[in-house]
Amino acid sequence: MNKKFIADGMCGGLARWLRLVGYDTIYFNTSKKIEIVRVAQKEGRIILTKDKKLILQYPEFTFYIEGENTQMQFKEVIKKFNLIIEEENLFTRCSLCNTSLEKIDKEKVKRLVPEFVYNNKNEFAICKKCNKIYWEGDHCKYIRERLKEL
Ligand SMILES: [Zn+2]
Repeated sequence: MNKKFIADGMCGGLARWLRLVGYDTIYFNTSKKIEIVRVAQKEGRIILTKDKKLILQYPEFTFYIEGENTQMQFKEVIKKFNLIIEEENLFTRCSLCNTSLEKIDKEKVKRLVPEFVYNNKNEFAICKKCNKIYWEGDHCKYIRERLKEL
């Protein structure tokens, strides 16, 4: 889990997938490429981009994303960096903002999640930044199936 990334404007879906499997990935949608470069250097992140100019300028910490869709892009990154996808790392990070999720007691989410979810699930986690509540649900199943295909 030691690899950290920045995805730029065209790779937002890719950023969400990397977070879902636990990899620290910032999404940076800006035309000011120098800002992305600055953060990458400061935080030791690899830039995932479709910007060939950026690749040529900073080959040491950029990676050119070829794929046209998120699934293809995700596969490229997994392969290139030998990323390990482990069950215990799934859903440890907010897919919206990259913050680490914290476990939250079931009683505390009673009013915050749909009733059938509350009645059927026991493990919940929260993103303290955007207050999104996570639980094992159908989207987890979907992700696992896509991952198996890879
Ligand atoms: Zn969040």
